Amino acid sequence: MERVDVKVSFSCNNRCRFCVQGDKRERFKDRSTAEAKKLLREARRRADAIVFTGGEPSVRPDFLELVAEARKLGYRLIQLQTNGQMLAYRAFARGCREAGVTEVSPALHGHVPALHDFLTGRPGSFGFTLRGIENARAEGLPVVTNTVVTKPNRRHLAAIARLLADRGVSQMQFAFVHPVGTAALNFASIVPRMELMRDELFRAFDVAGAAGIRSMSEAVPLCILRGREAYAAEWIIPDAAVFDAEGTIDDYRAFRLGEGKAKGPPCRRCLLDPVCEGPWREYPERFGWSEFHARRDASAREVLARAGRTSRRGA
Ligand code: SF4
Repeated sequence: MERVDVKVSFSCNNRCRFCVQGDKRERFKDRSTAEAKKLLREARRRADAIVFTGGEPSVRPDFLELVAEARKLGYRLIQLQTNGQMLAYRAFARGCREAGVTEVSPALHGHVPALHDFLTGRPGSFGFTLRGIENARAEGLPVVTNTVVTKPNRRHLAAIARLLADRGVSQMQFAFVHPVGTAALNFASIVPRMELMRDELFRAFDVAGAAGIRSMSEAVPLCILRGREAYAAEWIIPDAAVFDAEGTIDDYRAFRLGEGKAKGPPCRRCLLDPVCEGPWREYPERFGWSEFHARRDASAREVLARAGRTSRRGA
């Protein structure tokens, strides 16, 4: 395994309309410090790179203690996946760096307060998250952002990219909303049509590219990304084990492909089927497969060649 993702708790200071964790914060109590440290030791046997995730790990009073423990255990990479708000406190951002955090991954979902705060369910969160990004940068921490692509923000991805580029982030990712948990409850108001967000996603890639910043998308199939296939995060997502509330997912990639994503009728004729993960399964279950088109064009063959794979469909 290249990485372990450890969900240390499910408490959170946001109420995101697209939260994949749903009601876990009500169903599972936060792990104690001792339990969390035990988990860090177990996880270290599998990898030397760790992502602290949740919930919102940074709201734990013992968060910096857990990071220090991770460093003591010899983790080489320690990433904080966060909504970014605690980092708005400069002392906390400094504490993260000093304790051993090597990279932060804050989430920005809007280009203006009204949009971001609407999506997070927390008034004022936009300002906190932006300040958090600035503080992390000021502490010299690489900032790898995540933006969940939803119906309310799908027309503003380029503006979000511009804002992030101005703040000098290291990398930005645009993750298509996963319609589970709270996102499933809010499906009609939250999940956009992929065809309608594609052009704006490409504009966001262009904004990042013009600033010399790497950008990528997640959970957007290669037929939607036609011409921008290299931007799919799935090419580089490390193999990971996930320590979740109900147990450990030993191979998250296998889990994602087996239970998370889906393939449909167009995929059966598609040259890119062996290298494309397809959409989250809830998407075609609701919208069908009409937006997805089998790739049999010359550029699909080039994508395959670059991936070093041979299509089972006779490429
Ligand atoms: S048709 Fe299916 S396999 Fe081919 S690119 Fe689209 S989602 Fe992926």
